[in-house]
Amino acid sequence: MSYIAPAGTPLSLSDLVLGLGAGLRPRDSSEQLAALLAAHSGQPQCWLVRSGRTSMTILFEAMKRVAGPRRDEVVVPGYTCYSVAAAVERAGLKVRICDIDPQTLSPDLHQLQQLDFSSVLCIVSANLYGIPNALTEIEALAKDRGVFLLDDAAQSLGARYQGRAVGGFGDAGLYSFDKGKNITTIQGGAIVARGDALRRAIDELVRALPEPSFADTTGDAVKLAAYWLLLRPTLYGITQRMPFLGLGRTPYETIYPMSRYSGLLAGMALRLARRLDKINSARVGNARALHAALQGLPGVRLIDPPAQAASVYTRLPVFVADMQRRQRLIERLNAAGIGATRSYPFAIHDIPELAGRLAPTQIDRPAARAVAESIFTLPTHGYCPPDLGARVRTIFEQTSR
Ligand SMILES: *Cc1c(COP(=O)(O)O)cnc(C)c1O
Repeated sequence: MSYIAPAGTPLSLSDLVLGLGAGLRPRDSSEQLAALLAAHSGQPQCWLVRSGRTSMTILFEAMKRVAGPRRDEVVVPGYTCYSVAAAVERAGLKVRICDIDPQTLSPDLHQLQQLDFSSVLCIVSANLYGIPNALTEIEALAKDRGVFLLDDAAQSLGARYQGRAVGGFGDAGLYSFDKGKNITTIQGGAIVARGDALRRAIDELVRALPEPSFADTTGDAVKLAAYWLLLRPTLYGITQRMPFLGLGRTPYETIYPMSRYSGLLAGMALRLARRLDKINSARVGNARALHAALQGLPGVRLIDPPAQAASVYTRLPVFVADMQRRQRLIERLNAAGIGATRSYPFAIHDIPELAGRLAPTQIDRPAARAVAESIFTLPTHGYCPPDLGARVRTIFEQTSR
């Protein structure tokens, strides 16, 4: 059966051959990729590492070195990828949660302004699903309070806010090349940063990372070939049943390997990064069509991005407050071969593994919980067929309760 994957980047055979082929000159490819990402973000320097989580771990460690041990809290939006909270814990820091604005998924600016920043090391943005947070406002607040801003663009490479690239706000940012991100090489991550002291600390930490093993790199290259073949709707029904690809899981893991990025994969990432605008505009077109098709359906809420945000929609989030209806919708969409997923099942403060380990705070995060209980996502990638909006609308109409 034809099945549209929840997220992904369609690759051509020439991508695979020429991308991995360029990776045979690993130093050139890595240097060009780092230069491209630094220029894109507007930050002066870029380092390539094994994953977004590796980027985040390096950044927290570097920030700790610069700011000293007294600052041991990281402000995290109430709804974001579990990897963010896991990386905070891994760095020996504490998660302090700020609720979100349910209309935009951006941190609640009013609540952010009220927080006690005396022990805060840094604020992390989320920019989920390719939709920018209110980054100019968050950047100004971080600067005013004397804390770092880490602009997490793991899902937002190519998105802009007020004309500036997401990932480029604040002191440092990160990008991810994992499977469901804006571009993919199965895994991979990039750090961008400014500031002499912070850059020196990052540089030392990245230099101390081991090179990726030959086995890891060849394993990823083989997985990339499988991904090239199996992401297409005609085959994804089989792909879904291949556990080795680790698709669709959201584990909370504080133990993950740390290494530099593979130069072989850099050739592929460079090729995809060079046509980022094309990859993203396919997603934006599909997201707009889905948005239009779902407009006005009773009980269905769509995202309302912050003004002046140019989103790149790695997925399209949809909100259905009736949890049973949401469950039925996800089941029926999947039965019809449409990769609808629940996204992250919990708000950060409800992640079972984090119980009792959060920084003390009196502030409620009802909006983050309400989002976790109502959200699911629809695919937007280049393999979505033109009639996807009509098919999805019909299923919504048939699943009214
Ligand atoms: C995926 C993701 C990460 C982690 O990136 P990996 O490359 O998977 O380690 C961090 N933050 C957000 C918001 C993400 O979506």
